[in-house]
Amino acid sequence: MLQTHLCHSSLSKNIFPTTRIQFVQGLMAKTRQSTRASNLANPVVDNLERTGSKHNPDHEPPKKRFKLEMTSGRGLDPVSKDHECSKPNEKRKKKAKNAAVDTDDFLPRVDSPWKVGAHVSAAGGVENAVANAAAIGATAFALFLKSQRKWESPPLQDTSVTEFKKRMKEFGYSPRVVLPHGSYLINLGNPDIEKREKSYACFLDDLKRCEDLGLELYNFHPGSTVGQATLSTSIGHIAECINRAHKETSVVTVVLENMAGAGNIIGSEFSHLAGIIEQVEDKMRVGVCLDTCHAFAAGYDIRTQEGWNSTITKFDHQVGLKYLCGMHLNDSKTTYNSRRDRHENIGLGHLGLLAFQHILTDPCTQNIPLILETPNFEQPAAVWGKEIEVLHRISDSKRQTSPNSDSVLDVEALVQEVKDSVKSVEAKGNKASGKARKGGKASKTASKRKRKVKESDEDGEDEDGVGQEDA
Ligand SMILES: [Zn+2]
Ligand SMILES: [Zn+2]
Repeated sequence: MLQTHLCHSSLSKNIFPTTRIQFVQGLMAKTRQSTRASNLANPVVDNLERTGSKHNPDHEPPKKRFKLEMTSGRGLDPVSKDHECSKPNEKRKKKAKNAAVDTDDFLPRVDSPWKVGAHVSAAGGVENAVANAAAIGATAFALFLKSQRKWESPPLQDTSVTEFKKRMKEFGYSPRVVLPHGSYLINLGNPDIEKREKSYACFLDDLKRCEDLGLELYNFHPGSTVGQATLSTSIGHIAECINRAHKETSVVTVVLENMAGAGNIIGSEFSHLAGIIEQVEDKMRVGVCLDTCHAFAAGYDIRTQEGWNSTITKFDHQVGLKYLCGMHLNDSKTTYNSRRDRHENIGLGHLGLLAFQHILTDPCTQNIPLILETPNFEQPAAVWGKEIEVLHRISDSKRQTSPNSDSVLDVEALVQEVKDSVKSVEAKGNKASGKARKGGKASKTASKRKRKVKESDEDGEDEDGVGQEDA
């Protein structure tokens, strides 16, 4: 069964031919050389950093922990694009192909069949997401293809697309471990035809962006009845939109996410997802992404090994394991069956660290993107880097433990490591905001951090009113 579906068919091949650490190290040396060859102060870098967040206010700029050198600002800033267009320059065009990333501080990647990463920032251009993933030692990643809370965004620039594809190769990421996340506004289940059409346009635009970037998966929230339709009517609308989109695109697989189940949101029960898939004509191009926090909040108790086994068995019976294309690894701030979507760092919430050990030792989650959407407090390497490392350690520990082995996993110590990484980043943030207050300035850092945490909660339904209930 597994081999027949698109989510798994290409995975039997060597999905990650280039992730071996030796290769990455060789690459790093090579990249360092090219970076050093062009390490003169570059005004465009400043331009990139200044304008990155301006045009994409919902994307936090990446922490300047590695130097990003772009010899052209095209594709990153509409203003500089016009400027460049008015001054065609062969030399500059040639240089634009030689963007380089300083990989000095990049964390090592673990060679494992479980591909663990995070939803990284794409501020300043989608190509930056690739480097941001590599920087934290991720072997999979997610990104937004455009602002996730705006109906319309400027199209992807050609230079961004070229650089994205180039970096995917350079850093050894297969498209099958990249799980772009769709706009939060999209509601294909809305019974209001005008609103649904608006969502469909945004959805189709996202899918086309995937195809332009050579990506094969696209994850989105199924939708909401907005309290004005029956579940089955909305499910019908969602399936119909997917069928339409399949005809207007060629390769991308649409990946439905399970939801926490607040209000009228569809997707908290596996049967909802099955109901949608049932009506999709091209079943090779539909899949599911399981979010651990959402599942737990929706009443699937995955805290114990037995709980995980029974959940995944239910999933197989109701939906089919062949449709599992990815997972979101989030701990939960809220209790079991809370129907609320509040992500917490791994091991620090109500799920606990061991819940993730069951997942990271289950063969059915191998070679699919396993994505952290946990609060990162603006320091992806410190927090996500630590979470990725800890997740691999709990995975290895269980697999390597034999009856004769005396290696016992110290769960408390690992949880403490995650806690410490979060604390150290929080402390830095407080220090920075304290300084700002002393200087009489408003504390931007603190509010930014708060927002970053908030963005890790997805449903938005009862927090900010933006989300599928309104869309
Ligand atoms: Zn989501
Ligand atoms: Zn969520």
